[in-house]
Amino acid sequence: MEEIRNYVDGVWKSSSAEEHLEFANPATGESLGQVPLSTPEEVDQAAQAAAGAFPEWRRTPAVERVQYLFKLKNLLEENIEELSRTITLENGKTLSESKGEMRRAIENVEVACGIPILIQGYNSEDIARGIDEHMIRQPIGVGAAICPFNFPAMIPFWFMPYAIACGNTFIIKPSEKAPLTMTMLFELLAATDLPGGVVNMVNGAADTVQAILEHPTIRAISFVGSTPVAKHVYAEAAKYGKRAQVQGGAKNPLIVLPDADLELSTKIVADSAFGSAGQRCLAASLVVTVGEARGPFTEAITQAATERVVGYGLDEGGEIGPVITPGSRSRAEGLIEKGEQEGAKILVDGRNPTISGYESGNFIRPTVMDGVPLDGDIFKTEIFGPVLGLMNVDSVDQAIDLVNTGDYGNMASLFTNSGAAARKFRYEAQVGNIGINIGVAAPMAFFPFSGWRDSFFGVLHGQGRDAVEFFTQEKVVVERWPKDWSRKF
Ligand code: NAD
Repeated sequence: MEEIRNYVDGVWKSSSAEEHLEFANPATGESLGQVPLSTPEEVDQAAQAAAGAFPEWRRTPAVERVQYLFKLKNLLEENIEELSRTITLENGKTLSESKGEMRRAIENVEVACGIPILIQGYNSEDIARGIDEHMIRQPIGVGAAICPFNFPAMIPFWFMPYAIACGNTFIIKPSEKAPLTMTMLFELLAATDLPGGVVNMVNGAADTVQAILEHPTIRAISFVGSTPVAKHVYAEAAKYGKRAQVQGGAKNPLIVLPDADLELSTKIVADSAFGSAGQRCLAASLVVTVGEARGPFTEAITQAATERVVGYGLDEGGEIGPVITPGSRSRAEGLIEKGEQEGAKILVDGRNPTISGYESGNFIRPTVMDGVPLDGDIFKTEIFGPVLGLMNVDSVDQAIDLVNTGDYGNMASLFTNSGAAARKFRYEAQVGNIGINIGVAAPMAFFPFSGWRDSFFGVLHGQGRDAVEFFTQEKVVVERWPKDWSRKF
């Protein structure tokens, strides 16, 4: 059985951890290997390697640093098929979804190649006679990313390319549920001939994360995962004096108005709710129909849910793969039951499906629940499975109130032809990512991956200019020039 190794100081290392976790192909249940729960000493070795590489890497001109990213971009393109198959193997999403994920990862490398201009500061000449002032951006030192299972390639790339392009050195802690993709990505990083210690990988779970949070050398934490863990990570990062960008969970509402294009909206909503088996932080989780949109939309989404093809992501024709673990499946099925107990009506029941040839997989078929009550758990609980709840209200104002009621604020979308409604929604919705006739409002790499309320803790987000600001500290220089040019005393 394959044991996942760590990558420290440019060398692959077997972990000395005594404890391991097994991870499996979610479609077949077949074990794929074991992840070591790396020890605090191993985190320390990675942090020391990163700290050791920092002075020389920081002095390497940005134009030279990005040459490694140009190489990486080419290697990712050359290996996109195998990388995508690896994502599907361990995460379960379909091959085309995995390829989409890889494109998003690559886009972040491309944007980070622009660091020579993105990292520029600004200056003012003669803030007083003969005195100039500059703001320059300098790297922080060692950063670390703690990553979730649902985008094992893309999410670490919201951070790592920017961090190293800005002159920092970096540690990645992949998800223990899907660690293979990052192993393969580190093989490619190694093939770029990056100097040892610039990028490091330490595998593990909660205890390994704790060692990262407590390590005095690590100055910046990028986290993506569920909100309870996000709150803990944010608090610990503050306790140990680190800057942090911490992305949490979601419960994304989509509003459908009566004037929306029904056919298009239904397809887009179904893709959002059921694609990636609902395991996206931008997945539609609730649809709020307004007024008479209810009848036609309910009928259309019910039919769409019934028609979606569930299967193994590496087989032809499958549109929805399994959820990540048997535990995730039983949790989602339990929440469907809970919805029923709370009074929702199950219009399409995807529990306990039999997928021929994949009887041991963690499959759930698309599920639609109507009449999700506002005071129940389902309204506010992230299910992270292909499960869509429906609600109905009388006006756009009421729908926006619902969007602003829950704890999360990751994404909300509006389906309409009305510019006025769209403007009102964009203005008033208390969420960080807004879709207008878009089901998965995922920001491109040159925009911040936002998130509000319990979906994000911190100030600067991943991707684009936010990432550059996060991975640099501002230094302000005030300088006086010879006395002939300066203020006279
Ligand atoms: P998770 O919270 O279980 O794990 C995320 C990371 O935290 C993993 O690396 C894990 O090892 C670590 N971890 C888990 N428990 C910990 C603990 N007690 N202490 C310290 N570290 C711990 O999340 P997941 O199941 O891997 O991913 C799914 C979640 O991530 C969902 O809630 C989803 O909405 C969220 N997510 C959010 C975004 C976003 O941009 N906001 C993007 C993707 C996923």
